[in-house]
Amino acid sequence: MSEPNSGPVVLRGGTVLPMDDAGSVLAGADVLVVDGRIAAVGPALDVPEGTQEIDASGGIVMPGMIDTHRHMWQTAMRGYGADWTLTQYFVWYYLEHGKKFRPQDIAAGNRLAAIESLDAGVTTTVDWSHNLQSVEHAEAALDALRSTPGRFVFAYGNIQAGPWEWTADPAVRSFLERLRDERDDRMGVQIAFDVTGDPAFPEKAAFEVARELGLPVTTHAGVWGATNDTGIQQMYDGGFMTPETTYVHASTLTRDSYQRIAGTGGSISVATESECSAGQGHAPTEQVLTYGIPVSLSMDTSVWWSGDMFSAMRATLNADRMSEHMEAHLKGETITHLRLRARDVVEWCTRGGAHTIGRAGDLGRLEVGRKADVVLIKNDSSPVSFPLLNPFGHVAFQAQRGDVHTVLVDGRIVKSEGKLVGVDLAAVRSEIEDTIEYLRGACGEETWQAGMFPEMPEAEAEILENPYQYSDYKDASKRAGGEDRVLGR
Ligand SMILES: [Zn+2]
Repeated sequence: MSEPNSGPVVLRGGTVLPMDDAGSVLAGADVLVVDGRIAAVGPALDVPEGTQEIDASGGIVMPGMIDTHRHMWQTAMRGYGADWTLTQYFVWYYLEHGKKFRPQDIAAGNRLAAIESLDAGVTTTVDWSHNLQSVEHAEAALDALRSTPGRFVFAYGNIQAGPWEWTADPAVRSFLERLRDERDDRMGVQIAFDVTGDPAFPEKAAFEVARELGLPVTTHAGVWGATNDTGIQQMYDGGFMTPETTYVHASTLTRDSYQRIAGTGGSISVATESECSAGQGHAPTEQVLTYGIPVSLSMDTSVWWSGDMFSAMRATLNADRMSEHMEAHLKGETITHLRLRARDVVEWCTRGGAHTIGRAGDLGRLEVGRKADVVLIKNDSSPVSFPLLNPFGHVAFQAQRGDVHTVLVDGRIVKSEGKLVGVDLAAVRSEIEDTIEYLRGACGEETWQAGMFPEMPEAEAEILENPYQYSDYKDASKRAGGEDRVLGR
């Protein structure tokens, strides 16, 4: 893929959402980008000679969006699991077929996911890469991300072994150290694993490796049937809850755990579309508001949903509002003012995401001196593009990926006039086709089809024990819970 443009660029006359503390909306403003940074924001800017001019009139200029949790390797199976529950997902990837993925299959999914992000105006994606069965898999995953002009955080994980096992592997450690020491502005690094609540807390060793290497941990916490308050308690007692920690989903937790997250300064990554369908629990939007926990949004996996933050914003507003209304209705009351606003979710997927990945200082806002990750939403041929009255509402409820006109990452144009720049989509497609052909062959056609269209059991089935376990430990609390657990209060 070719190097995108990196000269000065000005986006002229758009409705600019700088995502500052005041929630400013700048009508008819310009955004000037020089040397990869925001050089100026304001009306009728003077620009250096040779600056590329982009007409942003009628459009919205905002910071590049940030997805803080996506299993990019699974994009190779886009849409396959549309009707899955979380249990079916675990069975397919963890127990039955995940081990079939070769390094080139991880790479194929990553490359497609990476360009899908750029297409949707997602300039930074946390690749929660949890099928790295070898360092060869990791190298392939990383190379695929680097072959695209996006910004990423590579969160290293491996569901096929205990985190205390793979973090102890010298080859994994040296890979992580190398990535950390490269200090690549477009490639952050984290360690990704979950804490299942085993009383022996075997994950402690992995936290110690993360601490020793100085790398943040991202963990699926508060996932119904898989991770719960015990894991939070263990992390807290071990001193592993830090401001750099990301708690993905954080749905089915008690008040106590939310207080621990709030008190130690970590972020929650809310993946509402996932939580609605798969069953981790209700998106904890009420809790992040109640406890003042830093929050960002994520899309989780394209095996169900597409990787765009418009879906994330819309799903998050809808889920929060639905629960607010339903709780009131159960008491015979009526909600007359909504607590969660469109501006909130636009913040969560821009500056919220920047905070989660430790980049609050240079990403997530359009402010002079910051990194120029910029999105222009504009589609003059769409009847949905006007009137543009409430720009936050427009982004959250009206816009979609097809309206993403221009995308800049690090000051380079990676999407222009609705088309990706320098991307060989045919090559990516052929790579994906190879992976699908291989997986389909390795599974056998019957298994492949049965996995995609799970049949309802004839008799009333027992509640399945969630198979997501690193150890043999089974916690009775994972199978039952009162209202307090479900609602997290
Ligand atoms: Zn996930």
